[in-house]
Amino acid sequence: MRPTYDVIVLGLGGMGSAAAYHLAQRGQRVLGLERFAPAHAHGSSHGRSRVVRLAYFEDPAYVPLLLRAYELWRDVERRLERPLLTLTGGLMLGQQDGPLVSGSLRSAREHGLDHELLTTAELERRYPQLQLGAGTVALLDRQAGYVDPEASVQAHLQLGAAAGAELRFAEPVRSFSIAPSGDKVDVQTERGTYTAGRLVLTAGPWAPQLLAELGLPLRVERHVLYWFSPPRGLAAFSPAVFPVYIWERGDGVHFYGFPHQPGPPDGVKVAFFHVGQPCDPETIDRVVHPEEIATMQRCVREHLPGLDGPLVHATTCMYTCTPDGHFLIDHHPRHPNVVIGSPCSGHGFKFVPVIGEILADLAMEGTTRHPVSLFGIRRILPNSSMLS
Ligand SMILES: Cc1cc2nc3c(=O)[nH]c(=O)nc-3n(C[C@H](O)[C@H](O)[C@H](O)COP(=O)(O)OP(=O)(O)OC[C@H]3O[C@@H](n4cnc5c(N)ncnc54)[C@H](O)[C@@H]3O)c2cc1C
Repeated sequence: MRPTYDVIVLGLGGMGSAAAYHLAQRGQRVLGLERFAPAHAHGSSHGRSRVVRLAYFEDPAYVPLLLRAYELWRDVERRLERPLLTLTGGLMLGQQDGPLVSGSLRSAREHGLDHELLTTAELERRYPQLQLGAGTVALLDRQAGYVDPEASVQAHLQLGAAAGAELRFAEPVRSFSIAPSGDKVDVQTERGTYTAGRLVLTAGPWAPQLLAELGLPLRVERHVLYWFSPPRGLAAFSPAVFPVYIWERGDGVHFYGFPHQPGPPDGVKVAFFHVGQPCDPETIDRVVHPEEIATMQRCVREHLPGLDGPLVHATTCMYTCTPDGHFLIDHHPRHPNVVIGSPCSGHGFKFVPVIGEILADLAMEGTTRHPVSLFGIRRILPNSSMLS
């Protein structure tokens, strides 16, 4: 018998909302299942802003995906007549031979991206908000900016529903099983069992537990976002004069931030990049502690003294990381009709629409024209989990 749905999307956060939309838009009968409410704050896709950038220091291989993501962000904006992506330019700050500046420059040169290398003196002249140490330079990525994660999830859900996807919220998936014939997936929730031809697994921080049988070396990390109120007003941090930035400090720690966005929360956002503690999504400590706030305040005082004012808001969020920091996007090694679309190692949001497109390709055609070889599951699969 033909299953009720062509595809079930498990988890409607950043990646799942985009996958559900792309699948429904291509005529698939889609069921999306989400344990919380639309655009909730319990996973990885909340906090009002995510850095987007093209000159990708992590690897030039990401750039073609980013170019496609930008096209798709703009397409969603056009369809809904609603802005999602704000370009402010982006500064990648650090020593010229450090991984951030040199990696960004490599991507910019290899892909002919619009960029500029700024000396310390030039940075001081253009951005008096920054307190620079000796030898700090920056790659200015002119196409960088930020995207609003909650608005993006809402936008993809709206477009997905309009294209016919059935989206169910407050319905946690308990388990899934594959028919012995391999052509059907049963998904069990608290309310019932649903059957589809294929399953797209986009459970973010919950992916490790849903894939526990594979023993993947995935790590969920707790991160904190902070909003401060600049004591001399917000003007010096408005998007007209202050871009997004990532800053590689002398000790190798990266922090990053945004210009002021109208609230709530009405402050200027900063965070540490990849400085998080291991956690479990069920038991994560959601309290932001005074010592953590003090550590961020010291960083702000040293590098952005004009932002050293009262804390307006702080919240936790989770990264789900692979050992090499690249994404995991592939078919399940034992079940080809299951496509895995998480985790995104703490830098995935800017790719949301193109990952939605890729997941739809993999679920429908088994393959994709996009370059995804960095993201294969076999690179992290323990030997014991390999197919015999
Ligand atoms: C603090 C922070 C800062 C970041 N900054 C950036 C940035 O500047 N730029 C950038 O590109 N990226 C950034 N990222 C990373 C980016 O936000 C993530 O890569 C992205 O949000 C991951 O989306 P996801 O869909 O995998 O996870 P999520 O959005 O968490 O979605 C997973 C969904 O699955 C649902 N789910 C899980 N289990 C079940 C179940 N059993 N049944 C039903 N539903 C289930 C969850 O409720 C959730 O809605 C940041 C992340 C954090 C936390």
